[in-house]
Amino acid sequence: MLTTRSLLVAAAAADVIHVDATYKLNWQGYPVLIAGVTDAASQFFPCIFAVMTSEKEGDYTSLLRVMKDEVEKATQQTFAPRVVMGDCAEAVTRAAEAVFPDAARRVCWFHVKKAIDGRLRGEDKEWRGMVLGDLEKVQLSATPEQFDHSFDLMCERWLSSSWPSACDFVTYIRTQYRTKNSGWFEGFDLRSPSTNNAIESFNGQIKARHTIRERAPVGRFLRTALDMVSEWAAEHGERRVFQSDPPVHLSVQTAAWQWITKGQRCFTSGARTYVPAGDRESVSRDEALHYDEVMSGSTPVTFGELMQVRFSTWLMEDRGGEGTERSIRDLTCTCPPYLKKSMCKHVVAAAITAGWIMVSERAKDVPLGQKRKRGRPALARPALLH
Ligand SMILES: [Zn+2]
Repeated sequence: MLTTRSLLVAAAAADVIHVDATYKLNWQGYPVLIAGVTDAASQFFPCIFAVMTSEKEGDYTSLLRVMKDEVEKATQQTFAPRVVMGDCAEAVTRAAEAVFPDAARRVCWFHVKKAIDGRLRGEDKEWRGMVLGDLEKVQLSATPEQFDHSFDLMCERWLSSSWPSACDFVTYIRTQYRTKNSGWFEGFDLRSPSTNNAIESFNGQIKARHTIRERAPVGRFLRTALDMVSEWAAEHGERRVFQSDPPVHLSVQTAAWQWITKGQRCFTSGARTYVPAGDRESVSRDEALHYDEVMSGSTPVTFGELMQVRFSTWLMEDRGGEGTERSIRDLTCTCPPYLKKSMCKHVVAAAITAGWIMVSERAKDVPLGQKRKRGRPALARPALLH
């Protein structure tokens, strides 16, 4: 296992760990295991490079154990991450439980989807589409309660359809992705990514930038690996800086500003604000009450009805305490962009309105109804160009 002091110190700032095994760097047939962390902007920071004889529970346990011990030695502080993310492998789950018993185990949604899609091979196109479409919606559950509720209704919907394999499939999916691995929906943890993409694309880049030959003698392999790990350490803080808060990009500020100007009417009750989704103009008091009843499960509904209500209104909540300094981090929203990136135009708009953040003048210069073009905005053009 290779690491540097600065990589360890940097990892200590994070509370989301990612692990992944890669055979792309295959050396003498042994897998390479990588452990690292992501920040609030979903940037990946590698921490340990390890060559293991296999990728079993014991290998992941020693990887995580070394990470914990060395980070603690380097910082003289307890290292207790909130989340451990990896694919669905039971080896990762057990290792995470052994080393970080208090951490939640997230499983990569991308892997879950791929595995389920594989399981559906040979099924009729119609049923396959139904299952994957329903799962995409359930994946967007904003809270564990919502996940349980919609998962059950989704299974009921399949069982009452004429899909011949419904019964088998429901048994499979309940065991695998509800009882064993349920950490694939967004609301499982609102402040960590729901996929392992960051570490996987990092592993892809290693191969593009470093030549690790499968048959390299141990001396040459070690030199290449050492160079690579030193390069990681050098890049840290230079090209990429660890961010503890989700960034408020200019595009989101622009969308927020336009949204404020458009003036859709929300309904606010205490810390909860009900936001009309899509083309809806407003949310009335009755609609907000109906939303609460349906979402809490006190009104019996079908899966279709539940999804209709869930995606017609976004619920923004202010979780900030009184007397503390207020910030945009106090706000959460149930719209898909927020669930995916911990930031959306609704919370930005609310923070602008409350005076917690200033909107950049540039966010106001895009005509209403237009989206900001990608990339850095152009500097002001000379006034007398024509
Ligand atoms: Zn939102």
